[in-house]
Amino acid sequence: MKKWFRIAGLGSALFLPGILFAQQSMELPALKQEAVAEVDRLQTLTQQMVDEIFSYSELGFQELETSRYVTGILEKNGFRAERGMAGIPTAWVATYGSGKPVIAYITDVDCIPRASQKPGVAYHDPVIEGAPGHGEGHNSGMAVNITAALALKKLMDGHKIAGTIKIFPGVAEEILGSKAFYVRAGLFKDVDIVLGTHVWHEFSTSYGTGDGKWSGLVSVQYFFHGKAAHAAGAPWDGRSALDGVSLMNAGWEFRREHLRLQQRSHYVIINGGDQPNVVPSEAAVWYYFRELDYPHIKSLYGIGNTMAEAAAKMSDTTVDRKLVGSAWPPFFNKVIAEAQQKNIETVGMPKWSEADQTLAKALQKEIGAKVEGLKEKIEPLKEPEKNPIGGGSDDVGDISWNVPMVYLMYPANIPNLPGHSWANAVSMATPIAHKGSTAGAKVQAMTALDFLLQPELVKQAWDYFRNVQTKEIHYESFLAPEDKPAIEMNKEKMEKFLPQLKKYYYDPAKYKSYLEQLGITYPTVKAQP
Ligand SMILES: [Zn+2]
Repeated sequence: MKKWFRIAGLGSALFLPGILFAQQSMELPALKQEAVAEVDRLQTLTQQMVDEIFSYSELGFQELETSRYVTGILEKNGFRAERGMAGIPTAWVATYGSGKPVIAYITDVDCIPRASQKPGVAYHDPVIEGAPGHGEGHNSGMAVNITAALALKKLMDGHKIAGTIKIFPGVAEEILGSKAFYVRAGLFKDVDIVLGTHVWHEFSTSYGTGDGKWSGLVSVQYFFHGKAAHAAGAPWDGRSALDGVSLMNAGWEFRREHLRLQQRSHYVIINGGDQPNVVPSEAAVWYYFRELDYPHIKSLYGIGNTMAEAAAKMSDTTVDRKLVGSAWPPFFNKVIAEAQQKNIETVGMPKWSEADQTLAKALQKEIGAKVEGLKEKIEPLKEPEKNPIGGGSDDVGDISWNVPMVYLMYPANIPNLPGHSWANAVSMATPIAHKGSTAGAKVQAMTALDFLLQPELVKQAWDYFRNVQTKEIHYESFLAPEDKPAIEMNKEKMEKFLPQLKKYYYDPAKYKSYLEQLGITYPTVKAQP
């Protein structure tokens, strides 16, 4: 058994005779079983990672504790870590093994402003009022990928399987801030297959444009500059930067009616001036321009820039802009998705306890959503939606247009939640997230084995990528050469809460779980009236 693994691992294995592939696929199920057993053995570590990253609650570009913690685990286990990738302090890559194929894992690590929430409690009850929190569940992805990578490493060592495993963090995903820069820095140049993963309430994968509820975007901040003056004593001497912002927003609202229905655009005023008796010399507004494809996003961005310049003219101010994020709409690989779907079906949904279901139903009731508890069934792989309507964005899209990639959705959250809110944090350091992450890790390890041991499958994935996906559409970055990662973002917000957050960091040496550390009875639900 060991001998042919060694042969299969050689770089030239793409052209090995068919008989060898037959042997490999006979061995593959046994290896997958071994990977599953290893992931089960690592359950305590998986739970600790989920809980510890939950307790760090770090916003995009400020994922310092999370990076230190997870690279530490990987280095202790023989992975080589490089830090500060693509000019981003919290971006790193950890590598194990050598040679082809190169399989990369990626998952997000950042959290959501104001989403602080006690886990296991089915109503709004923040750990720290106003603090950031894992209101999307990005605390669980690294537990999934690292558990899978550790299990794989053991198999690669034990069976002399050749190939390279790389792990990347999705830094600042909530502001779509890192992946276009990763691509520009060439971090995926030597990568053959990317296995991304993201928390969800279903256990699923997809290909092409998936369910059609993805948009790409450009995220850009406009800074207006005016002239300060006494707002009552000499208003004629002032020029209000806030007027610039207000006129731009008014212009956008009029224009909105004449845009394609597929567009989604939204803004927040990030600086509205200091106090009413001072004509604001500085004001700023932050826009997300979302559309279904590169040309339409680019056009929307162009309209935004025109609006900003016109508003500056009307208010006699000046304006400049900073691109803070961008994302292509994701497009996933059919060959990888089909292999992954089989693994999802083999692993199956986690076994939810009565307590898990009670928490889920109580939360659904609390927020006025459909009360149906946690999902218990796996759906078959669906054909991509023919008429995409757009929706959220994820900057893994940029990676998916450069390397064959899929996104495994693992079941660690509760269905029917609003997203980006405290409600989405409720399950994220409870047995729901722990079990869902273990299930996800199994599929991540099994799918990597599919591609480590079947070179023909790697070739098929690239055929699909070259001859179907990118036959007519070619990747062009939204980034201009002068654009830089917005690494200073969230710094102040994070520093404000850091002293309080530190008091609540999870200590696995003292407590079996974060629920235990916080003294939370699982589940905590409102009494029935
Ligand atoms: Zn996310």
